[in-house]
Amino acid sequence: MKSLWSDREAAEYKTDLGLRVYTSKLLGRDPSLVLHGGGNTSVKIREKNIVGEEEEILYVKGSGWDLETIAEAGFAPVRMAHLLKLAKLQVLSDSQMVNELKTQMTKASAPAPSVETILHASLPYKFVDHTHADAVISVTNTANGWERIQEIYGDDVVIVPYVMPGFDLARVCAEKFSAEKSDRTIGMVLMNHGIFSFGETAQESYERMIALVDRAEVYLQQKNAWEISPPASLIREREARLEIAKLRADVAQVAGFPVVLSSHTDEKSLAFAQREDVQIISQQGCATPDHVIRTKRLPLVGRDVNAYEEAYRAYFAEEAPKSVQPVIILDPAPRVILDRQLGLVTVGKSAKEAKIVADIYEHTMEIIQRSQLLGGYQALPASDIFAVEYWELEQAKLKKSGSAPAFTGEIALVTGAASGIGKACVDSLLKRGAAVVGLDINPAIEKFYDRPDFVGVTCDVGDETAIANSLDRAVKAFGGLDILILNAGIFPSGCRIENLDTATWQKVMHINLDANLVLMRECYPLLKLAPNGGRVVAIGSKNVPAPGPAAAAYSASKAALTQLMRVAALEWSSDRIRINTLHPNAVFDTGIWTEDVLTSRAKHYGLTVEEYKTNNLLKVEVTSHHVAELAAEMCGALFACTTASQVPIDGGNDRVI
Ligand code: ZN
Repeated sequence: MKSLWSDREAAEYKTDLGLRVYTSKLLGRDPSLVLHGGGNTSVKIREKNIVGEEEEILYVKGSGWDLETIAEAGFAPVRMAHLLKLAKLQVLSDSQMVNELKTQMTKASAPAPSVETILHASLPYKFVDHTHADAVISVTNTANGWERIQEIYGDDVVIVPYVMPGFDLARVCAEKFSAEKSDRTIGMVLMNHGIFSFGETAQESYERMIALVDRAEVYLQQKNAWEISPPASLIREREARLEIAKLRADVAQVAGFPVVLSSHTDEKSLAFAQREDVQIISQQGCATPDHVIRTKRLPLVGRDVNAYEEAYRAYFAEEAPKSVQPVIILDPAPRVILDRQLGLVTVGKSAKEAKIVADIYEHTMEIIQRSQLLGGYQALPASDIFAVEYWELEQAKLKKSGSAPAFTGEIALVTGAASGIGKACVDSLLKRGAAVVGLDINPAIEKFYDRPDFVGVTCDVGDETAIANSLDRAVKAFGGLDILILNAGIFPSGCRIENLDTATWQKVMHINLDANLVLMRECYPLLKLAPNGGRVVAIGSKNVPAPGPAAAAYSASKAALTQLMRVAALEWSSDRIRINTLHPNAVFDTGIWTEDVLTSRAKHYGLTVEEYKTNNLLKVEVTSHHVAELAAEMCGALFACTTASQVPIDGGNDRVI
C-alpha cells in the first residue's frame, strides 16, 4: 500500500481542517481501507467562540458522510472540554452519549458526530485517522490474531480486544492507551474491528496509517496469504432469468416487502460461491461490526430462503437478551446469497442498498480467503454480532425512519426510454423509488444516468433476441420486474390508404404491435412473480377512440395494441397483473416535434404555435411529464382496483367525449 499524499494537491488546502479534508479523501480513495461511510477521522483545533473565549474543538467526521467525498461541512465541531469529561465517566448509555455529542456541538447545522467521537477526543494527538483496513482485519480475524498483530507491530501499536463500538469502546481504548503507550506508539489496533493512527500533522497521521496497513499486507504476502489462487475450474451456466426472479420473490416474501437483487457472476464471486468449503467459511460471521447492519450476520448459501428465515428467527430467540426487549425485530431475509450458479447475489430495499452490500461483500470474500490462508477465518461470536445488529442506536434509527417512496424495492422497465414520454416515465418512476431499466434503440440510453438504480440498454424492440438479452440484463441487475411501460413506437409521415405501401404498414405494425406482444409474453413470468402484483401501462393514442385521416397504420397499430391490453387484462387478472392504457394526444415535447415542424403544422391550421399546442377543450399544453406522471400513478395504490382501463390524457377532445 502506497501513500497517495501529493505536496502539490496538499498546497491547495490552507487550514488544518482543510488538510483534514484532504487526507480523509485520500483514505476514502482506497476501498480496501474504508467503504461506504466506514472509518472516521478528526482534528483538534483551537478557536475563538462568539463571546471571544478560546476553546479547543474536535472536528470529527459526521454521520451520513463518506470519507471519499467529504467536505469541511461533513465534520461535526464538538467541544473538547466536555468530551474529556465524558471520557472519565464510568457509565454512559450510547443514547445518552449521542445526546451529549449533539448538544456540545458549536454548529447546529452540522451532521451528528461519529459514535467514535469520544475515542478520537481521548487520543492526545492533533490528527486521528481510523479505518477498517481489509489487511488488518484479515489478520485479527484468525485464531492467533492477537499474537500475529504483536508480531507485525511490536510496540508500535496498542492492541485493544474487541468491544462493541460506542462509549464502552472509547473507555477501554483510553485505558489501554494510557497504560500501554510507549515512545514508539503510532497507532492502535482494535481486534475484529480496525486500526487507528495519529500524528501532529495531517500528513504524519495519514502516512502512519498507510505504513501500518502496508505492514499487515506485507505480512500476509510473506505468509502466502495474499494471493487468492483461482479455482481449478469455474462452472458457468446459462443465464438464469427466471431462477433469479423466483429467488427474489422468495426473499421478498420473507422480508415482507419488495427487494432488489443484484447478481454478480464475475470470476471472483463465482469462484467464492463455488468453493468446496463455502458452506463453512461463509458461515462464521461478519468481518467488522461496521458490516453487520448492511450484510446481516450470515449469507444464505444456496436458495432455501425459508430455511434461512427459520435459522434467523432461532438466532434472534437465542441471542436476544430479555433486557433489550422490546425491540424492532429486523426482517429475517438474507442480504447476501451465495449460489453456485448465480454467484454472489446481494439484496437491498433499493438498488443502492444492494450495491453497498455487494461492495462490502466483495471485500469480505477477500478478507475471509486471506484469513483462511493464514490459518482459518474466525469472526466474532454470534452474541457480539447480535449486540451490534440490535444496538440501541440502530433501533432508534429504525424508529425515526419515515415512509419510503411508493415503488421502493420495485423494478420497472420502460421502452423508448431515451426521449419524450419514455424519458419522462424513467424520471417519474425513479422519483417514486423504483429501479428502472430503460430500453432504447438510441445507444445514448446507456450513458443516460450514472446512478445505481438505473440501467440503460440499447435495444431494438423489433428484435426478439435483443429483447431477451435486455430482460436478462434487467433481471441480473435488479432481480425481477414489477412494472412494464410499453412506450416505444413509431409515427410514419402522413399517408392516405390508397398510397400506403405494405412495407410501411408492416414496419409500423412490427414496432407498435408485434414488439409489444413479444415484450408482454416474455415479461409475463416475471410480472407474475412481482411481490405487489405486476403492472403494465401501454401508451396508446387519441387516435384509437378518434382516428384521423392519413394515419391508418399508426391508428390501426395503436387500436390493436389497446385490444391486446384488454385481452391481457382478462387473461392475467388472476395473476394479480393490472393492465391499463393511456391515450395521449398532441404531446409536443418529444423528439419528432422540432420547432420547424411545430411552426409548419400550426400554420397549416391557421393557428399560432401556442394555440396549436393548447388546441383542446381545457386549453392546456399536455407534456411528456403529464403523461409519465399519470402512467406512474396508474402503477400505484390509487389505481389498485383498476385494470383494463383506457384513460385519455389529451386536455379534453370533443371527438373522444
Ligand atoms: Zn470503526
